[in-house]
Formats: sequence, C-alpha cells, structure tokens
Amino acid sequence: MPLRSRNLYTFFCSFLVLAFALSAQQKEPESPASHAIETAFQSIPSPEKAREWHRTFTAEPHPAASDRNNQLADFVADEWRKQGWEDVTLRRYDVLHSRPRSISLEITEPVHFTASLREDAYDTDPDTKNSAVSGSYFGCSASGDVTAEVIYAHSGNPEDYDLLWKNGVSVKGKIVLVRYSNPYSYRGFKALTAEREGAAALLIYSDPAEDGCTKGKVFPDGPWGPESHIQRGAITYDYIVPGDPTTPRWASIPGAKHIAPEEARSIPKIPALPLSWRDAKPLLENMNGLEAPKDWRGALPITYRFTGAVRVHVKVDMDTSMQPYTVVEARIRGSELPDEWVLLGNHRDAWVFGGVDPSSGTASMMELTRSLGELKQRGIRPRRTIVVCSWDGEEYALTGSTEWGEQFADELKRKLVAYLNVDESVAGAATTAGPDGMSFSPSAVASLAPMLVEASKDVRAPSGKSLYEAWGATTMRDSKASTPPLDNALVETRIGSGSDHTVFLNHLGRPVINLGFDGDYGVYHSMYDDHYWMSHISDPAFEYHVALTRIWGLVALRLANADILPFDFGFNAFALEQFLRELEQQNKAEQRRLPVKRLHVRIAQFEKAGNLLRDAVARDLLLGSASPEKIQHLNEQMLQVESNWLDPAGIPGRPWFQHLLYSSRYTYAHLEFPGLTEAVEKRDWNLAREQTAVLEKAVEKNTKLLRSAQSSWEKSNP
Ligand SMILES: [Zn+2]
Repeated sequence: MPLRSRNLYTFFCSFLVLAFALSAQQKEPESPASHAIETAFQSIPSPEKAREWHRTFTAEPHPAASDRNNQLADFVADEWRKQGWEDVTLRRYDVLHSRPRSISLEITEPVHFTASLREDAYDTDPDTKNSAVSGSYFGCSASGDVTAEVIYAHSGNPEDYDLLWKNGVSVKGKIVLVRYSNPYSYRGFKALTAEREGAAALLIYSDPAEDGCTKGKVFPDGPWGPESHIQRGAITYDYIVPGDPTTPRWASIPGAKHIAPEEARSIPKIPALPLSWRDAKPLLENMNGLEAPKDWRGALPITYRFTGAVRVHVKVDMDTSMQPYTVVEARIRGSELPDEWVLLGNHRDAWVFGGVDPSSGTASMMELTRSLGELKQRGIRPRRTIVVCSWDGEEYALTGSTEWGEQFADELKRKLVAYLNVDESVAGAATTAGPDGMSFSPSAVASLAPMLVEASKDVRAPSGKSLYEAWGATTMRDSKASTPPLDNALVETRIGSGSDHTVFLNHLGRPVINLGFDGDYGVYHSMYDDHYWMSHISDPAFEYHVALTRIWGLVALRLANADILPFDFGFNAFALEQFLRELEQQNKAEQRRLPVKRLHVRIAQFEKAGNLLRDAVARDLLLGSASPEKIQHLNEQMLQVESNWLDPAGIPGRPWFQHLLYSSRYTYAHLEFPGLTEAVEKRDWNLAREQTAVLEKAVEKNTKLLRSAQSSWEKSNP
C-alpha cells in the first residue's frame, strides 16, 4: 500500500507564502570527515544493480504468506549477511491471514453475464502469462453468497449515500457498486461505509476516468491501466487499529493470545470484490432507473444511473487460517552510540509482482544496504546504529511493522531517533513526465523537514539538476504555480496512514520520514504493476531508483553521524501554527466557538523557545566549544520533545493512535491535532475544550523542556 493520499489532500493556504526562510543556522557545520563519507557513499549505488534487484523481486507474484514471499525473506537475509550487516534475524508473527478460495460474480437479470475477474495477458510481457497470478479479491473481505439488486453509489463516501437517500434509494440488503475515486479514499473506508448503510455486499471498480484510457496511453504502451486491470487491496479497518486484527496492541509472536475474529474491530463484515471496468460495464449499462447527476458520471460511454433491473449473484469464499509472516531485521552497530537507532524499512509483500508497490522500494533498499555494507567493509561505521527491516503483510493491515513495533515498543521508545520509510520508491513514469522529470514527494514530521531540504541539495536528480532544484521545479509544475516554492513549502508535513511508518509515528511517538518519486501510474495493485512496466515505461534507466537510494542513505547517514541531532523545533512550531489556522479556516462558520486562543499563544511560546535554542546552539558551535557530554544531554532532551507528543490515553475512540499532532482519517488522509479536529467536526464542544487542554499542556511541557535545554546548554559554557 502506498501513500496514494499524499498530494491529493494537500491544503494550500495563503499564509503559507508569507516569507519565512528556514533559518540558516539549521545547517550544522559539516566536518570534512563526514563529507568524505557521504561522497564515498553516493558513488556506490548503481542503476544496473538496482535493475537486477528489481528483476529478482518481481520475478513471481509474492503476496504475504505465499511460498515465494517467504523465500524472498530468506534471500534478503542471505544478501544482508553477504553485504556485511550484523545480527541478521528473521522475526516470525502468526497472524490471521485472508486469501481467496473461490470467487465468482454473475448477472442473473436482465441479461446473463459471468465476470472474468481476471486480467488479460500480453505477448510483449511474458510475466502477464504467469499462472500464479491471482484473480480478483480483497484481503480481509468477509465470505458470503449474495444475490441482490445492484445500486450505483458513486465513490461510496457517506455524502454519496445521502444523495441516494434524497432520491428515495435505500441500499439495505442490496449490492452496492462504487468506483475508486479522486481524491483517493481508502477502499477500507468504502467497505465500512457500505456496511454501516446496511448493504449486503460491495463491488469497487476502476473507472477509466481515474486511472485508465481517459488519462493517457494504457499498458503495455503507457503507464495507465487497460480495460481488464484490477486494483486488488485490503479493506481492513486498520485506521481504527492496524496489525493482526486478533492481537490489537500486542505482538502476534508465536504462542501469543488472540481474540476471536468476531471481536476484532478491524475486520469487515460484508463480502467485497474489486472489478475491472470491463467487468463492471455490463452492470452499469443494463441499469434502467433514475439517471445519476453529472458529477457521478465516469468515462464509460454509458448513462450512469442510481438503480434499475440489474440483479447480481456474488460469491466470496475466503480462507482465514493463521499464517506466519516474516520480518527480516539487520543492523550495523554504531561505533559510538550503539543504543541510538536510525531505522530504515520497506515492505516485501506485493499483491502480484509489485513492480512499483513495493519492489521499486525494495530495489532501492537493497542498493542502500549494499552501499552501507560496503562502507562498513572499508572500516566506516556510523556513530549510531543503523537498523534495517524488510516488513511483511503491509498490504493487509501494515501488519509486519505493527507487530514488530508492538513487540519492541519499550526499546524503540528509548532508542529510536527516527524511522525512514520507503514503500514505493518510483511510482511514476519518466517517459511521460516531461523535462523536469518525476515529482519528488516526500513527507516528514515538521521537526525533520528542514534537514531533508538541506540533504536534497547534495543529491543529483536524474534530470541533471540537484534534487533540491528538481524538487522545486516539479512542485511548481504540479501546483501550477508561477513562482518557485519556498523551502518551507517543499516538504509535506501532514502525514496520513497507509504505510509502515504508522506504528512508529502514531503508536510509539517517534519521528518519521517517507521518501518516494511519483507521477503517472494507473496499474496500482494490478498484474501490470510489474518489471515490464517499470523497465519500459516508468524508469527504464533505473536512475530514479538510484536517486532515491542516495537521498535515503544521505538522510540516514546524517541522522546516524550527527553530533547534534538535526531537529528544528522553531519550524515544528511554525507548522503547528499552520495546522491550527487550517482548522480555523475549515470551520470558519464556528470560529467563535473554537477554543484555540490560548493554544495559539502556547505555540508561539514553543516557537520562540525552539528558535532561541537553535540560535544558542549555533553560536556555540561557531566557537567550537561544545563538549561531548553537553551535546549528548541536548540530544536526549530533543528526543524527549518528540516523545512528549504521545498521549498514552490515545485519541478518543481510537486508543491505539496516541500521537497528539498526527493521525489519519478513515480514508488514510492526514489528520492534524486529531482529537481536537474530530471533536470540532462532530461539534462536540466539551470534547473540543478537553482535547485543546491536552494539546496546550503538551506544547507547554515542550516549551519548558526547550527552555531548560537552552539554559543548561548556556550554563555549561566555559
Ligand atoms: Zn506498498
């Protein structure tokens, strides 16, 4: 699962363009030694090697719990050992899995039609003839056998059902047909919504308006989805609690206690299936009821209607036995601070071949581990420990990373400096991207955003420019702006869910960064997301894979080798103020009732304390007089600031999500100040006041901590 919601939900506010330059003091003076290490590192990754890794990982379908995916776990472990990584370990989790036994769909009235539920093979791409490719299914769908009338419900969001109601249409006991939508909303939210509305089953199809021929050339001639492409995926309610549905909040290590599936909050209760538009078209075109409004129409040459005369028989039979998932873990122990960890990760399991999702990321990761391994063989060890993980079952419920995070929660809370996630490293097409190339679209917690911008200046993009310049150019292009973006608008600091960073940020309170390139990509979770797509249409030279390896490694090395950890709390506060103003703008009508006056003041105090600390540290570093003890104390305090954003009580209704600043909506879209925002949206003003008080307290606590960090820093000056 990638972060498909990433750019779509970006909220551009006018105040964002207020001049606010990232402080120049942010740049720690770089030592000649660390510069040499970075140069040595950047010269190692090779496009040819990345291509080889990619071919290996995409040679066969490798969904979670398949033999192939388990063999790849052993392969990763062997390669990491050969590359010189230490403590290579396979962690096993026994989880409630979900895979199809038999699936069928047919129209019984007014015509007879049996859906193929399969994707077409092409001679140009022999992988598409592989007999191990699955047909249509959704991970975590309920089993069921339903015959009922079909209702078209547009994108399957709550407002769509409201419109059906207004038109006198009830979906109770019916089969609801919806489309994947733009902006993206996670299919698991469509499933929960259909279930709440009383539907008997759910079908989700890919309309060509979203990711098919309306967008441009389709596979195998272009990056978009052909008529038979199927977007598989999970529909687990992991926005409530991710991981194995039967071990909420604890790890599924062998022998662990499991709750009954009926008690699990994250398991859907109605059967659901994804359809290609070719299989969905006969359902839509045979309807004869009320015509749907204009904005419900897709790109098929038919009249889109709410209802009418079409009965369908859908059968979903799922095997839900317990299966082992494997997380592969390795490290290069730090030479000076072995108990401070920088964690890198990418998931291994794919719906089919995983050309983009996740094997582009896996290829970038394997080049990264090879490069860091080679540095180690040359005697260059990072100061802090670098840990790397190959996650499993991400596609089902972020399962491997969640179980691993829950297993090592206490240790991670003490030791983890940051988690750097790469799911899809290359999710676009260089061949259709234009002269500025694919978009670099990372996201990061605000405290680490400035260091990411700095690092991008020292990596070359495939267009030949620095990654920093390319990033500015593509951001300008994508937002249709007439002036280049300011540095502080480059990094997306709003972070939703949908990938393996979730447990580290939202449950453990550790800072995270997500990295990736994106662009035209219409074969997501289909069979066509494969090596042919990647090597002919997306990144034929594999240069984006390598650029991603370089920026990923550079950020990892800077975090692992920094004397003073590159957190910027002045900028963190600036982002919080932005989030708060967005909340106010989005609830303008209720602005007088928003209890946030004092929170603005607290954030301003936090910003001042962050900037003062940064300036004090920068002054001192210019004099070159900071002792190692003093630096260590400062680093511990900065890591504590990040920990203080965690509230063990969790956000109302979703106790697993404990971060006060970041969470995700049920659609996976980002959600800032989650407790407060959800209370405001429910117009529950008592809860809103309560949640604001919790936020004020946390911000105040961190302001005090920054002030005390500044005074102890200045006191210990010689
Ligand atoms: Zn993924």
